[in-house]
This record gives sequence, C-alpha cells and structure tokens, in this order.
Amino acid sequence: MTATIRTFRPGTTQAAGATRGMRRHDEPVRLAGRRLAPTLAAEDRAEHERGLSPHERITCRLHRRWAHECIASPQHVIPVTGHRWCDDCATAVTVAVDELDGRVALACPRCHRTPSTRATEQIVRTCQASLGAAGRLARRPAATQPHERFARSRTA
Ligand SMILES: [Zn+2]
Ligand SMILES: [Zn+2]
Repeated sequence: MTATIRTFRPGTTQAAGATRGMRRHDEPVRLAGRRLAPTLAAEDRAEHERGLSPHERITCRLHRRWAHECIASPQHVIPVTGHRWCDDCATAVTVAVDELDGRVALACPRCHRTPSTRATEQIVRTCQASLGAAGRLARRPAATQPHERFARSRTA
C-alpha cells in the first residue's frame, strides 16, 4: 500500500530530449517543489559544465522531476546501458518506490528477478538520494535540511 508505482501513458517512448521542457501537472509538488527547482538547475549546470552523468542525477533532465518520481516512465528504460532492463528476458524492468521507508525495488515482470547490474545499483542509489533531497524520508536528521546537505555535497 505504501509502494508507489507511477505509471505513464503509453506512446511516450520517443528519444530523450524530444519532450524536453514538458511539464506535467498531474501531481501537486508542494514542499518538494521548492527544493526541486534549484536542484534541477544545479544538476543541469553540472551536467553541461562538469560532465555529470545523467544517470547520476537525482533530478530528471527530461521530465523536470525528482528521479524517484519518473523512474517508472518508459523513457527510463535503456536496454543499451541496462537501466531498467532484464537482459535475460529482453524485458523492461518495473520499479516500485516506497516513499515512506525509502525502498526502491526493481523486478523483471517475466523472471521476477532483480537484474544484479551496476545500472540497478545506480537507480536504487539515485532514487534514494532524490527521496532524501525531496524531504520524503521520515528518517532524515531533523537538524539538517536536505537542500543544505545537497549544497554541501555539491561543493565538496
Ligand atoms: Zn524522468
Ligand atoms: Zn527477466
């Protein structure tokens, strides 16, 4: 019940960039929205100026959201790199994000296994980081605001 599986309309699997700048308003962003915009801008700059890998971002350049909010989109299935992809079944892997305890679970709908790849590890790590930065995790330290942690980590 706590797992949030975000679904996207079919027919949106065009190349990344084709819908850049498109914004979806099907969910209120509220508090997370105040942290999202500066984080997006900082990661856009880091990607363009310092070569930050798009796969290491905690915000999504394409959907303009936190990584954990749109990782379920078909546009995050990348067979070439193994992101959300089961090689054995040649099938897109589903992802469930639990916003309460920060669990990010990937499973192939055919073989029901989690691909043990660096891509899987990267998705789990960045989605958990985006949950934390968005202030969605109850266990974050009360004395430290997520955006302050992020600002420090960027300048480290
Ligand atoms: Zn996205
Ligand atoms: Zn499989």
